[in-house]
Amino acid sequence: MSLLEVNNLKVHFPVKHGLFSRVHAFVKAVDDVSFSIKPGETLGLVGESGCGKTTLGRAIVKLVEPTAGNIFFEGEDIARLSGSELRARRRKFQMIFQDPYGSLNPRMTVGQIIGEAIDIHHLAENSSARQKRIAELLKSVGLDPIYAQRYPHEFSGGQRQRIGIARALAVEPKLIVCDEPVSALDVSVQAQIINLLQDLQQKHGIAYLFIAHDLAVVEHISRRVMVMYLGKVVELAEAKAIISAPKHPYTQALISAVPEVDPETKRKRIVLAGDVPSPINPPSGCPFHPRCPIAEFPKCQAEIPALREVTPGHWAACHFAK
Ligand code: SF4
Repeated sequence: MSLLEVNNLKVHFPVKHGLFSRVHAFVKAVDDVSFSIKPGETLGLVGESGCGKTTLGRAIVKLVEPTAGNIFFEGEDIARLSGSELRARRRKFQMIFQDPYGSLNPRMTVGQIIGEAIDIHHLAENSSARQKRIAELLKSVGLDPIYAQRYPHEFSGGQRQRIGIARALAVEPKLIVCDEPVSALDVSVQAQIINLLQDLQQKHGIAYLFIAHDLAVVEHISRRVMVMYLGKVVELAEAKAIISAPKHPYTQALISAVPEVDPETKRKRIVLAGDVPSPINPPSGCPFHPRCPIAEFPKCQAEIPALREVTPGHWAACHFAK
């Protein structure tokens, strides 16, 4: 059974159309997205900036209100929950952020930051149990419990990310949305944080939705990978299958840009023409058609390709994927 099942999720933001106009247009940040995550699984999510991956992650943990669709968490639709009903369930799904410093209150000590999460969900019986739990959490992310007395600005980027992970772990979540958690870190520190996330997953059985723009990182940590373009899922498959035999021309272009570890294997670089179109007024038919090197007209301009299972477990939204 799935831990998380997302069906036909849409997040559309109204924007003013024209300087003095009252007419609103909509940014279709997430447009009809469906997928699932099993307990203890990591699903990688990749795509260029502005493709909707962060908005999708935020919608799943209910930091953004969905416009339509369902988010079943352990069988219960949380898409429309709010107030106390949502608060009671929120500890099961947490988020860690690209910029841990921005998400840590600079006026609170590390102990207060982690303790706040424990307090909100009444997870410690008394003050000594609370202190013990904070110390355990810091140790579990590789930090000395003595750091509980210090403030976020006293730490490096990697250490701050560890504090963010400790705060998320404090409420014993079943799913963590990791929004580009290593993008701002040095490569050596990236590896440490990824290893830490994998160790914690093995120990606690946590599932991750791991968002990144770096396919090499996503391939390393994920069992399956999902690729988004202009608010839509264009490909979803096992990580190995997507890297070795991508079906969608957009994924093929993304993979062609990943540096090869083995210098003997040379991938032909596919350079896409133009920029990502505006999500306010996306292209007709296949949203990728203005940049697609193999687009066929008029079909690609007129017909939206469905996300279909091209080979077992390998889904792609392209009329010509084989
Ligand atoms: Fe390219 Fe057409 Fe496939 Fe879209 S449907 S990815 S435009 S070939």
